[in-house]
Amino acid sequence: MAEPKRKISKQRKHTRSANWKLSMPNLVECPKCHAKILSHTVCKACGYYDGREIIVKKEKKK
Ligand SMILES: [Zn+2]
Repeated sequence: MAEPKRKISKQRKHTRSANWKLSMPNLVECPKCHAKILSHTVCKACGYYDGREIIVKKEKKK
């Protein structure tokens, strides 16, 4: 097994972990219902993507 030649110093380890942060997902506005959605995904609110209805909600029959 390959082994690291040198131990990583505390400073280097801490510097690396200090720069680790969560990034927000790429939110865009739905062109149809203006809800915040992830880019390149079908809008959960209205089911539209690329001008077409992808998710057709079932209508309740009464
Ligand atoms: Zn939408």
